[in-house]
Amino acid sequence: MTLSDLHNPRAGAELIADFKRRFSTKICMAPHADHEGRIVSAHTMSLEAVLRKISKDGHVYAQDFGPKLSEDSPPIAIARQGLRSVSVFNGFCTKHDASLFSCLENEPFRFGRMQLFMLAYRAAARECYLKRKMCESLPTLEQIKSMHGISEEVVYTEDVLIHQAASLRGAEELEQLKSKLDGILVSASWDRMVSHAILFEKPPCLTSCFVFQPFHDLNGKQLQEYENLEAEMSHLAVSVIPTDQGAAAVFSWLDTANSAPRQFFESVVASTNRTSAVIHTVLDNSENFAFSPEWYEPLPETTKDYLLSRAGLFEASIEYHYRPRPELAAPHLADWGNSSVVPF
Ligand SMILES: [Zn+2]
Repeated sequence: MTLSDLHNPRAGAELIADFKRRFSTKICMAPHADHEGRIVSAHTMSLEAVLRKISKDGHVYAQDFGPKLSEDSPPIAIARQGLRSVSVFNGFCTKHDASLFSCLENEPFRFGRMQLFMLAYRAAARECYLKRKMCESLPTLEQIKSMHGISEEVVYTEDVLIHQAASLRGAEELEQLKSKLDGILVSASWDRMVSHAILFEKPPCLTSCFVFQPFHDLNGKQLQEYENLEAEMSHLAVSVIPTDQGAAAVFSWLDTANSAPRQFFESVVASTNRTSAVIHTVLDNSENFAFSPEWYEPLPETTKDYLLSRAGLFEASIEYHYRPRPELAAPHLADWGNSSVVPF
């Protein structure tokens, strides 16, 4: 069964059930068999090497995923949070969380090939985990019937089906990416990951780590056929981290990817304001970011509102089609100084 069968509601329900059977959020995501210990709460951004460096009094600002907000409050919020709770997910057992990411947690970041791979791998694992969780939360038809006490036959509405088709398609594509990355991890063939970095001379005011499918670049140019359910889609991994010299924005993709990740990266590099272009890439396309309090707290309220509006964009890279080059129309956000572009 493929997602194109989803015009049939019964098939849609079966697909969701099948997805739930195959993928569970209760297991370690490492491809190895020798799991040990419980599933731990793991940081996607390193606690010491990344988050601590932009923090103040043990806190940063990040998206608030806490208690459900009231109906009249905005759907998302940016709040001061303790480092322990920022960017965590429950995706690895004790042993694999420690062993897989040791090169990021216990060694200085030197843009080593394994380090570059593991940055992207951890971001992809997190996205997979969240997609699995989201799919687990989709109710089956049987659950809907029992929830509402309905005894007769029920069907999904077309809107629900389209939403679920898009969600499941995104989840399937992430699973495929994760599976390719697992193969590289097991064979230690780090060269399969193509990485470029924009190096800035000043420390970053935000950090981030995520994977997304670039549909349009910052110029608004379409990069992938996202309207076509059968089209092969590629992902781009992005990390923004502090370095010994300043800041690095690292962009990585598989050597088998189509041209979309590279073209998106090039549209960031081409900006006359690279700091703002990197900040927009992060806010527009991910919710896994942390702000430095020293930077965020004194910002004018209008600028804070602007940051929230970008973080709240839905499918932001499609937004670039309508409003290209957002970094040039934005209020002043930050300046990380001169930059250079380095391939790895
Ligand atoms: Zn494990």
